Amino acid sequence: LPAANGDFYDLMSTLSDRQREIAARVRHFMETEVAPIMNGYWSRDEFPQSLIPKLRDLNLTREIWNDDGTRTPDASVTEGIIIMEMCRVDVSTAVFFGVHAGLALASVALGGDERQLKEFMPRLLDLDMVGAFGLTEPEGGSQVSRGLRTTARRDGDSWVLNGEKKWIGNSTFSDVTVIWARDEADDQVKGFLVRRGTPGFEVEKIQGKIALRMVENGHIRLSECRVSEQDRLQRATSFRTTADVLRLTRAGVAWQGVGCAMGAYELALKYAQTREQFGKKIGEFQLIQNHLVHMLGNLTAMQMLCLRLSGMEDAGIMRDEHAALAKVVTAARCRETVALARETFGGNGILLEYGVAKHFCDTEAIYSYEGTNEINTLVVGRAVSGLSAFV
Ligand code: FAD
Repeated sequence: LPAANGDFYDLMSTLSDRQREIAARVRHFMETEVAPIMNGYWSRDEFPQSLIPKLRDLNLTREIWNDDGTRTPDASVTEGIIIMEMCRVDVSTAVFFGVHAGLALASVALGGDERQLKEFMPRLLDLDMVGAFGLTEPEGGSQVSRGLRTTARRDGDSWVLNGEKKWIGNSTFSDVTVIWARDEADDQVKGFLVRRGTPGFEVEKIQGKIALRMVENGHIRLSECRVSEQDRLQRATSFRTTADVLRLTRAGVAWQGVGCAMGAYELALKYAQTREQFGKKIGEFQLIQNHLVHMLGNLTAMQMLCLRLSGMEDAGIMRDEHAALAKVVTAARCRETVALARETFGGNGILLEYGVAKHFCDTEAIYSYEGTNEINTLVVGRAVSGLSAFV
């Protein structure tokens, strides 16, 4: 794997041979299969369905998960490297992958019983089935547990779901969407595997996003949507399981910031080495070098932070506040980095064809999902002070 310009401290040398091979596989895929088509799909607000069989052939999900719902050794670092390499080129592709292999697969792995693991895991792992994760609601974003209004009513051998879900990635074409709903009888949040085409499950594609335009986010309306008891996640009996799933995926979101910043920096560096003004390469100007070094410092610090975070996760010692701090720091540093990269391009920085504009826009979504900056800050603040700012 040739050294990337954005790998100043040789992060790759800390990985296993297997992880380096995976990184090379993902990098090749992103550069040959995704880069040539991404701007067209990003402009059209569409996910390229042709990527799904190609991602299936890459077989990345099995690098993280086993069929029985357990994680592979070093899964968190491996997943982080996959996400980083994806985001260097295109964050939307990483989000498609993260929703499927992170949120949806983790819901089944942590909440499913043996029968459900047998039925769903191999198909999800082989991408024969695409997953989505429906938690957020129009009125319940940050206050996701307390604000969860979607209801589940037991009726004989089935459940009847009513409510709305907003922002649900992949849901416009997913084969199965995990819907989190509140049981009317015991008030607990439970998970339901809603299969595509189930009557009463309707998805409208959210239009007009300025970030992650290649990801299809859906607004789901559930009206008297009937799901069999067999498709209720049997081991997810309270919001605790939902929180476990989110904890498992938060490190991945921090890695998105790393990859996105790396991609933007590498583009800016190349531009600074070639673009000329006042008879010089713009990279010769001290102020531009300051931009480059500021970006490189940010992303190198982000890489080291995430590597340690994922190491802690793999060792089973990562707590919520560890992941939350990494999300806060990487999203903020990524935002600063992509802005400097965009600035380095001058006017060309707002043109899609120069690449950096997509990183600039996509960062805004990274900044706000999987816990906004404020919410993750409060999670860390509570842990370090012993005082909760939440009501
Ligand atoms: P709000 O909760 O309304 O927050 C608005 C502002 O108020 C924010 O700045 C927030 O930090 C601040 N705020 C709220 N409470 C406090 C407080 N106590 N103290 C200080 N400030 C506060 N969800 C899914 O379930 N599945 C998905 O696949 C999914 N994909 C997404 C993809 C994209 C592109 C986006 C943008 C979102 C996605 N989400 C998804 C939802 C995402 O997790 C929420 O948008 C996020 O949790 C924030 O919720 P909200 O947008 O309702 O903002």
